[in-house]
Amino acid sequence: MPLANDSKPASYYAATAPKIQFSSLAGTGTQLEVAVVGGGFAGLATARGLQERGMRGVAVLEAMRIGHGASGRNGGFVFGGYSRDARELLLDLGPGPARELYALSRSAVGLIRDRIQRHAIDCDRIEGGALLLNWFRGSARASAEMQAQRDFLREHFGTVWDEVDAAQVRDWLDSERYGCGLMERDAFHFHPLKYALGLAQAIEADGGRVHEHCALARLEPKAGGGFRLWTGNGASLEAQQVVIAGGGYLQGLLPELTGARLPIATYVMATEPLSGALNPIRTPAALYDNRFAFDYYRLMPDRRLLWGGRISTLERAPERIAELLRADMLKVYPQLAGVRIEHAWSGLMSYARHKMPQIGELSPGLWFAQAFGGHGVAPTTVAGELLADAIHGRKPLPAALSRYGLTPVFGKLGLLAAQASYSWAELRDALRERAAG
Ligand SMILES: Cc1cc2nc3c(=O)[nH]c(=O)nc-3n(C[C@H](O)[C@H](O)[C@H](O)COP(=O)(O)OP(=O)(O)OC[C@H]3O[C@@H](n4cnc5c(N)ncnc54)[C@H](O)[C@@H]3O)c2cc1C
Repeated sequence: MPLANDSKPASYYAATAPKIQFSSLAGTGTQLEVAVVGGGFAGLATARGLQERGMRGVAVLEAMRIGHGASGRNGGFVFGGYSRDARELLLDLGPGPARELYALSRSAVGLIRDRIQRHAIDCDRIEGGALLLNWFRGSARASAEMQAQRDFLREHFGTVWDEVDAAQVRDWLDSERYGCGLMERDAFHFHPLKYALGLAQAIEADGGRVHEHCALARLEPKAGGGFRLWTGNGASLEAQQVVIAGGGYLQGLLPELTGARLPIATYVMATEPLSGALNPIRTPAALYDNRFAFDYYRLMPDRRLLWGGRISTLERAPERIAELLRADMLKVYPQLAGVRIEHAWSGLMSYARHKMPQIGELSPGLWFAQAFGGHGVAPTTVAGELLADAIHGRKPLPAALSRYGLTPVFGKLGLLAAQASYSWAELRDALRERAAG
């Protein structure tokens, strides 16, 4: 399997994105209004949101490269909702606030689309919707649950997901695996690293600064307001306000943040381009299923199949990831047994125990946005908008968000507990699959 080596990036996205570099930061004396730490979607969306509200003096500081984290490695699904299930949101918050938070995620899908168009970001966008598939084909209960989910979303969140019957699914996909499906039409999929790079370029084009290889190493409040920041390579700067958006990759800084989220891995691979006869997918939709650790996959414009799945506390070598995901793919499409896997990689999501984003202000002028989980493309954009409103317009964050605070995750113990609960959920799905036939 010709996977990554030193001269070949593991990620398909890194291999196919334009080679755009941003300068590092050197010396001392830089003065900023807002320093945004983390060049993933949360940091970039916040910086761009601030600029769109007229704020100048904004910089993004990224430890590695723009999109190095989850944002440049993900499945590329852009859809509404959060990692926390919509039913749980309703139970937690009641109808008004739950609907408000859910609506923000749907508006964010529109804002991403709008930014792609406004800045002419070439990011392989496919307006195909997202199709949720019933893995438990023979189970009447599972089909009823899918219908109930559709009715629930329409009734409580005003979201219309179209029912797709099993015959239509079979028509679109050369697989015996699935039963019926639910289509979220307003969703799309894209090349996330190209989008991240395009957004970073838009920030620079509008007078903002984007610095790579610029890891925040230390941060201190200044007497009289604002912050002094030091980077790992000896540069320092001052900023009136700071936003920390380091996702699952933030380490060693601000234990209030790192102690409130678990870095959890998920895996992705890309096949060689599929010839017309081999291609089993005749829908432009992004595809996923209704298990806990679901497969998520999509056909890309160059006819490669991008396949993601698994959720684990372990990051693994590309060869092992390819082996695991290939086995998953063959459960659905055994006819792809001879297809080469050309890229395999992992990425770290950041998860709070409550599975909702953590967005807020740690102390005056020190903001954070993290824990977007595995459903973060639109929610990071929600965070960017909310933080930009709060920082620039002094608009309070939605009260509903404060319910999902910085709850401790208990470090290694938390990881062990998470792994145990994942294994249990996977076992439950396996038993259900066996019962469904
Ligand atoms: C494999 C995978 C598949 C996924 N698929 C989907 C999907 O299809 N759809 C969806 O909605 N969501 C998906 N997600 C989730 C989504 O990608 C994330 O929720 C989202 O990208 C998180 O963005 P972020 O900006 O918070 O974090 P990240 O993208 O991880 O960015 C954090 C950045 O901060 C930087 N950083 C850390 N510490 C410092 C420091 N001290 N100084 C400077 N910079 C620092 C890191 O280098 C990193 O670049 C997926 C996630 C993964 C891992």
